[in-house]
Amino acid sequence: MASTDHPLRILLIASEVEGLVKTGGLADVARALPETLARLGHEVIVVTPAYGRIKSLWQSWPAPPLCVHLNSFSETWMASRRGRQHGLDLVLLEHEGFFGRAGIYDDGEYPYSDNPVRFAHLCKGALQWCIDHQWQPDIVHANDWQAALTPFYLKEHYRKLPIFERTRSLLTLHNAAYQGQAPSHWLQPLGIHDQFFHPGAFEDNGQLNLLKGGLRFSDAINAVSPGYASELVTDLGGHGLAPIFRDRSKDLHGILNGCDYGQWSPVTDPLIPAQYSKPDEGGKANCKKHLQLELGLAPEPDTPLMVCISRLADQKGFQLLIPALWEVMRDENVQVAILGSGDRNTAAHLHRLNQHFDKRFAFVEGYDMALSHRIEAAGDAFLMPSIFEPCGLNQIYSLCYGTLPLVRAVGGLKDTVVPLNTQLRNSRSATGFMFEEPTAEALEAEIRRMLKVYREKPALWLSMQRNAMKQRFEWEGAAEQYVSLYRSMLSSD
Ligand code: ADP
Repeated sequence: MASTDHPLRILLIASEVEGLVKTGGLADVARALPETLARLGHEVIVVTPAYGRIKSLWQSWPAPPLCVHLNSFSETWMASRRGRQHGLDLVLLEHEGFFGRAGIYDDGEYPYSDNPVRFAHLCKGALQWCIDHQWQPDIVHANDWQAALTPFYLKEHYRKLPIFERTRSLLTLHNAAYQGQAPSHWLQPLGIHDQFFHPGAFEDNGQLNLLKGGLRFSDAINAVSPGYASELVTDLGGHGLAPIFRDRSKDLHGILNGCDYGQWSPVTDPLIPAQYSKPDEGGKANCKKHLQLELGLAPEPDTPLMVCISRLADQKGFQLLIPALWEVMRDENVQVAILGSGDRNTAAHLHRLNQHFDKRFAFVEGYDMALSHRIEAAGDAFLMPSIFEPCGLNQIYSLCYGTLPLVRAVGGLKDTVVPLNTQLRNSRSATGFMFEEPTAEALEAEIRRMLKVYREKPALWLSMQRNAMKQRFEWEGAAEQYVSLYRSMLSSD
């Protein structure tokens, strides 16, 4: 049993890490959390694939061979490349056939059909690395479906190994809508015995569901916000897995992500045209003017500018946003700037809005990190009408930039934004606007209410901006909560 101040050994397994390879919020956490844990004095190793697209990073690192057996008759030789990058102690698992290809999860259109076996090698390879190097982890911290087999292998394949005798496993959910579903013929290649193919473990309507199995076998589970954790146990918010979340509710926690203020602060941001520490000192207005000119919007300082940066995916609520914007744009003098990539149909709808409203609407299709900073700094309000939101980062960035978030009351959005109440009486604490029902009408009504406050109550708007810019979601706090959770796992049987 660990004493309360003994530094922990943590093996963190994730399929993407910011600064190496990133497709979403998982990557941000897989970098910031281990970095912070290490700063707090813990020993953390991050295991991720040695993707071909980052070969220049790892090709000079030593490459001891690593032999992985997913079942009793298969054998795969990989290499484990260990090195340091961004302050992280990394083990990159190399296998040309699995990880040398151009995509991470898909070929640009379809997921790779052998994803189960690719990521099973990440999970088992990470544990094998511990065995080969006699590195005894206190905690194996698996992330999302790609790492979800790790708790299973730990409990079922390596149960009797002394090295893992004290080890506990945590599975973190960054987005439980992605579950690693696959045909059941993968059971045997992955070393999952038939006895575990039932609805209480890996089976999901006749299919294999890797995330579900991970939820069954991990010692504890956490979601990336308390709000999302509480929704996962409901039929509406459980992504089809509510029964297993309810079953494991005693071990299900919510820990809100932190924000990397080193990259996201208007006071120091080198990517914005004018830095600022107060919403009304001129810098923010300057950023707005720059963006209006850059995107071909009329350079009107007093016209409210609503912005959005997002994956174009159903999760993000574009089915509400697009009809609401058609209505609002018709009779309100307001500007909109949207940056996004993803679903083609959503993009086509946004291009149509763009054409119709010309100097008042700008849609930039693509992924552009630098532009996303300029948009955050320029906007008056940030629109985030998500259907579900495990944590969400952009509303947190928006707070820091004094760009008031208008969000749906869901998941991490509910945990991070304090809505202005209907009597407009909480001006000292309110940081944004919120609506409940996932309908275009509810969103439209809240946008109109927000625009009225912007026009008619400038002092209230300014005080909300000040409140917003004071909010802090530091990684230190989040990492300390993870440490408490790890310790509670180690002290229970
Ligand atoms: P999710 O992980 O569900 O996509 P989050 O809000 O948690 O949503 O994180 C999204 C991250 O990706 C943010 O940092 C956001 O700024 C960034 N992002 C999303 N789309 C784009 C884009 N088109 N261009 C630049 N950055 C983007």
